[in-house]
Formats: sequence, structure tokens, C-alpha cells
Amino acid sequence: MFQPILQNIYDDINRLNLQGKQADYIPELAKVPSHKFAINLTDISGQNYGVGAVDEKFSLQSIAKVFAFTLAYRLKADTVFEHVGVEPSGDPFNSLIQLEQENGFPRNPLINAGALAICDVLIGELPNPEQDLFDFIRKIAQDEQITYNPKVYHSEKATGYRNRALANLMKSFGRIHNEVEAVLDLYFKLCSVEMSVHTLSQTFLLYANHGRLFPTDEQILTSSQTKRLNAIMQTCGFYDEAGEFSFRVGLPGKSGVGGGIAALHPEKYAVAVWSPLLNPKGNSVKGIKALELLTTKLGWSIF
Ligand code: GLN
Repeated sequence: MFQPILQNIYDDINRLNLQGKQADYIPELAKVPSHKFAINLTDISGQNYGVGAVDEKFSLQSIAKVFAFTLAYRLKADTVFEHVGVEPSGDPFNSLIQLEQENGFPRNPLINAGALAICDVLIGELPNPEQDLFDFIRKIAQDEQITYNPKVYHSEKATGYRNRALANLMKSFGRIHNEVEAVLDLYFKLCSVEMSVHTLSQTFLLYANHGRLFPTDEQILTSSQTKRLNAIMQTCGFYDEAGEFSFRVGLPGKSGVGGGIAALHPEKYAVAVWSPLLNPKGNSVKGIKALELLTTKLGWSIF
């Protein structure tokens, strides 16, 4: 059932001639060929269906914030919410204004400020933060090859002025407990993680499966934690476009400025889509359209 629908979506996307623009504030991302498109769906029994460049790796960017938060939530349980909130920001992902007004407390873990606070938590909790975070990502992706792209990491580190501003602002409010540069470094490496849509949708299956890894059933998050994280993705996963994504697609998910989107339908499937052309809010134009077509053609959403 899924394969013909994905093929149909691929044909529709090609026909629609949708326009967008690669992220260029991270210079390395602007070099990714604009025509790339791939979609992969992993159903709850672990079966994969895909169309396009399903095995080509791309930069996860903000999608990786979900994995950092998963690890922090696992380590700290509900005390993680002393560091980040659970409210949508309604602002761009790298906005400073709200953070200043709210005394350096990030609205949620999926905006840049929140992910920086989570990187700070991980540095405080883990003996070898970088190694341990990447080992965790490799574990839930069940792929030993997963790592970050050094060119994207250096590109972002060299130009990450706003993230430096966010981290320093939080530090000034006493919200960052480690060295600002160490927090930024882990954050830039996290954002530079690469995966294919195939691996990404398999990894997101965990959030559709009550926090359990497929096929071992190892519990990564509790069922309740998974429900809560899905609620955060639903309300905060697309920044100031979270309402529009809920309205058009009706699934919890997370986007990144590399052009990826991962989403899931609890107990049914996880899906990942990639096209580097972004809309002005930093979300993949073809990615959102493809997922809108998916939930429309399937006739299922969580609503
Ligand atoms: N690494 C990017 C940044 O910090 C992530 C932004 C995104 O994917 N929305 O700006």
C-alpha cells in the first residue's frame, strides 16, 4: 500500500515545480544540489518503502535536536524541564527577543536556545559528552557509521554568530553552566550529523513505537516520555510554522535547515523526507508538501 502512494507523491512533487532556497547562512549547506529529493517510510513492523535518493546522506541540522533531547530526557527524567520549557515559541528558530524577555529560559528544546541548553545539560551529565552523544545517536540509529560532517561543522562554527549570541545571553542569565564555547562546539557537531532518509525514518520509528527500539524492543524512553516528546514535536517542531504543519500534515515531526523533515504516526509508521529547498521559515517546501500529500492520500493523521 505505501510504495504506490510514495511513488504517486514523487510524481506529484515533480509536477508541481515548487520553489525554495537552500540555507546559505551556513555556507556549506548552500552547496547541496537543489534538485535532491527523497522520501522513506518505515512501517511499525520495520518494513521500509522509499522513492528517490533514499540512501544519500544529508545534514540533519535541527532534526538532531530531537536525539540530544531524547538522551537528556533519559538521563534527567522530568528534571530536564528545569532547563527548557514545553511551549511553542511562535518565533524563528534562532530568535533572541523572547529569550531576553524570559530571562534566558528557552521556550522548548527544539529551538536553538533550547538545544543549546540541552547540550549544556549533556556536558554536565556525560563523562565524554561528544563521544557519548554520538554513541547514543549511533545506537538508536543502529548504524555504527553515523557521524557529523566536518565541513558543515566548521562552516557553521565559523559563521554561528547568532548561536554565539544566544549562548552568551543564556550564560549572562546563569542558564548555561559550562563554558559557552564547549556548549557551542557540541551543538555545532550535533547539527552537522548526517543520515539518509532511510536511516532517519528507521530511527524515528522509536517515537512511533512507545519509545522502543525496533527490533530489539529496548526501551529508550518510557511510553509516557515518548508521548510527551511527540507532543513537543507537534507543537514546537517547526518553529513559527508549527501551526501550519499541524494544519496541513497533522503529525508530530521535526524539520532542519538541511531540508530534512522526520515525522511519525504513533503505532503506524515513521517517515523522513529530504529536499534542500526551504521556505522563508527554514522548512523544506517539498518536504512539507510531500507529507501533506502522504496524510491526505492515506486518509490518516493523528487528528
Ligand atoms: N544548525 C542550525 C542553526 O543553528 C540549525 C537550524 C535549523 O535546522 N533550523 O542555525
